[in-house]
Amino acid sequence: MQKKNLIMIAVAILFTAGLVLYMQQPRMTFTDDEIHLSLYQEVDVYEYIEKTSHMNINEIEVEHDIDNKKLGSYLVLYKYQKKTFKLMVYIDDTSPPQFEIRNSKLLLNKTLDPTSLVYNIVDDSETHVYFKEDYLFNETKTYKVVVVVEDAYGNTTEKNSYVLVEEKDEEAPSLTGLDPITILAGDEIDLKKGVVALDDHDPNPKLSIDDSNLNITKEGEYEVMYTAEDESGNKTAAIRYVEVLSQYANRVSVKDGVKTCYLTFDDGPSAITPEVLDILDKYNIKATFFVTGTQDKYYDWIGEAYKRGHVIGLHTFSHDYEAIYSSLRSYVADLNKIKELVYQQTGEYTKVMRFPGGSSNLVSKKYNDGIMSRLSKKVIDLGYQYYDWTCINGDGENIKTVSGLVNKAVEEVQLAQKNGQEDIMFLMHDSASCANTVKALPTILDYLLDQGYVFDVISDYSPTFHHSIQN
Ligand code: ZN
Repeated sequence: MQKKNLIMIAVAILFTAGLVLYMQQPRMTFTDDEIHLSLYQEVDVYEYIEKTSHMNINEIEVEHDIDNKKLGSYLVLYKYQKKTFKLMVYIDDTSPPQFEIRNSKLLLNKTLDPTSLVYNIVDDSETHVYFKEDYLFNETKTYKVVVVVEDAYGNTTEKNSYVLVEEKDEEAPSLTGLDPITILAGDEIDLKKGVVALDDHDPNPKLSIDDSNLNITKEGEYEVMYTAEDESGNKTAAIRYVEVLSQYANRVSVKDGVKTCYLTFDDGPSAITPEVLDILDKYNIKATFFVTGTQDKYYDWIGEAYKRGHVIGLHTFSHDYEAIYSSLRSYVADLNKIKELVYQQTGEYTKVMRFPGGSSNLVSKKYNDGIMSRLSKKVIDLGYQYYDWTCINGDGENIKTVSGLVNKAVEEVQLAQKNGQEDIMFLMHDSASCANTVKALPTILDYLLDQGYVFDVISDYSPTFHHSIQN
């Protein structure tokens, strides 16, 4: 054989060997160059493999981080021995946008923003809004326009809207939300809150408020003038009433046909406070607790009562008549102490307080003649409001039996009704010495519910039920 032939045979053998080796390489093809799925569509990475050769499919390792709840592109790696095959999977938005459409009015030759006709758009990707055609609103007539909402994946939804083109705007804006406001003298007031001026043409009618007659530091009833004006000069004016209540006055309860009972507990927290709270929970009744700082073991029950929706008021830290009623200075020092304790427990500085013995107490006379007259003004100067009561169960007056407490409560409520008092403020005690108050409580609550009372907690606007001061 010639040398040339030998070389050719050698080349052919090498080529064939190479080809055989190449043919035996692992190979993988996919059903498509890239895979497109819709949101939430099930992901099965093995399903995208169309064909493999020289591979054991069980030994393929697949790596990916496809999240079918999130639009985007994801890389899938199929690893087999030393080879890696790559495939892109896309999670696409395939649903067209949903939205609602409104009709509108327009002045002649004005332009209209199509987004102003569309609301409540729901789609998985970003959307934009446009008119299907260009419209020139140059005739006074009703135009039927086609509004298109398109998402980032090119899905579109079309809806019709009707645009009435008018030569002139003759309708004035409407004004709503001008309900009367009641505030306490010195409180802040937001005259714009809740007020809405709407116009058929002008998207932003001008709202002006004339409050030159209003004095929020002085008790009285005031008129505030509101004016809404649209671009074409159409005006609507309306009056809003603002009532400024005195901080000092005894806020009397106003008859509104609803019998309200303000349930209050004094002198806690103590060992019986948890039981009182459980009973109130059972009845789904909220009360006001005038607390003291005399039993540090139970301080956390102040926070617990607050958490369960009750209102916490201040009843002095020491409840020591001699100490607190000896001077204004010592009362205020004690009040600051209980104020801080309540703040630690609730995160709030409360303005609600009750004098030990009530504002009508005579005990204070023993320690300081005339102190209640001065003190009742002083605490209000300091921003507090004090609350007395109208009814008792007698647990502070040495009634010790359960039946005695129930009878006293019933007697007091009947007396209030006889006297034409629609609302009542009920005083009980959750101090440790009043264990039978807990036992009598369900019967008294049943009676009050049976009499048609609804329960409320003390707020800045509840009646104060001030007693007449006797010292
Ligand atoms: Zn007390």
